[in-house]
Amino acid sequence: MKLLESTKNIVEHSHSHTKVSLDYSQNPQGNNLELNTKKGLFRKIKARLDSLAKSPALRKEKYQDDLMEVLAKNGFQRREFMKWAAVVTASLGLPASFVPLTARAAELANRVPLIWLHMAECTGCSESLLRSEDPGIDSIIFDYVSLEYHETIMAASGYQAEKSLEDAITTYKGKYVLMVEGGIPKNTEYFLTIGAHARTGAEECRHAAEGAAAIFAIGTCSSFGGVQAAAPNPTNANPLSEIINKRVINVPGCPPSEKNIVGTLMHFILLGDMAVDAFNRPKWAYGLRIHDLCERRGHFDAGEFVQAFGDENAKHGFCLYKVGCKGPYTFNNCSKLRFNSHTSWPIGAGHGCIGCSEPRFWDTMNPFEVPLGNRYQTAFTGAGADRTADNVGIIVLGAAAIGIAAHAMISGAIKPK
Ligand code: SF4
Ligand code: SF4
Repeated sequence: MKLLESTKNIVEHSHSHTKVSLDYSQNPQGNNLELNTKKGLFRKIKARLDSLAKSPALRKEKYQDDLMEVLAKNGFQRREFMKWAAVVTASLGLPASFVPLTARAAELANRVPLIWLHMAECTGCSESLLRSEDPGIDSIIFDYVSLEYHETIMAASGYQAEKSLEDAITTYKGKYVLMVEGGIPKNTEYFLTIGAHARTGAEECRHAAEGAAAIFAIGTCSSFGGVQAAAPNPTNANPLSEIINKRVINVPGCPPSEKNIVGTLMHFILLGDMAVDAFNRPKWAYGLRIHDLCERRGHFDAGEFVQAFGDENAKHGFCLYKVGCKGPYTFNNCSKLRFNSHTSWPIGAGHGCIGCSEPRFWDTMNPFEVPLGNRYQTAFTGAGADRTADNVGIIVLGAAAIGIAAHAMISGAIKPK
């Protein structure tokens, strides 16, 4: 009886704390608190969406229909849309009971003004999202968002395009999401001028960032400088975060998957903010290594490796570590979400991960077909990942720690400019 009393007290005490904290992992009493907290989070998201629903739909000239009608015209049924919402909800780390909220957030995406700027880049990130053949639900939703400015797909050019950008910045001041693709020259800004007035890329970013509600660096170029920042970096290309003085959430990858771009946008619509790692990447997408969920991981643990491209082991789908896979050092969710509407990904197609979502990967991860362990010592002196691979039966449990240690070491080895 006494035990019951004390348990009741603890639970009541815990409930009083749930009003101020959404962290339901702290209390060992478990279910009641968790349920209560989930309800709190659910209510918070619902209130955000209700408020968004009161805003008018933008770009009515393009989309007279609601999202379900747009999807239906593209051959998708509601069942497929709900399946998509379930995948996004799970990827964002939200409970299954939140699926209707994710679906509603997507339906309200046409209330969110979005400005997309191009800097020094190849436009591969846009391509990742806007592939015209067989567009998936992610691509359609991205198109359904009120995309106010995107140079690749807009008809306007020159003075007219500049006016569109200014109109969007003024009309939606304080409300728009800014996405930037590409690296930006710093103190050498003449290397990148844009538009009829030849404004520099840095000027354009600073100007657009002023009135933005949220800022996302899309792709490794914008997140970390990318290929143009690779040594010797002749244009002194820099990441967006070095150009503007507002918070930037990085969505790296070369290119990032459509799920990571649209998922980050959904996360913003649902919650407004998100947990990030040391490199300001959303933890929901970049919290685990490629190696952690790789379909070939069983072969790594069993010491079964492809020794050369095209050998017998390659035909058996063995681990690609010895032909250069950087999956143990790379944080991203490609192994889970894949690319091209979940059809495939580099390791699935037979080439190792090249580490494209890591800072300075062009300099630190190449040559891409040579194991990193050949060149770097890890915190475990003499036990680089190569030796781990050779002695995998003996020290397999150390492999994860070695990967993390190497990652930390490589990141630490990057000299600030
Ligand atoms: S991150 Fe890669 S795909 Fe995206 S713009 Fe840069 S080089 Fe192109
Ligand atoms: S080393 Fe590469 S291919 Fe092998 S399990 Fe890890 S991520 Fe997969």
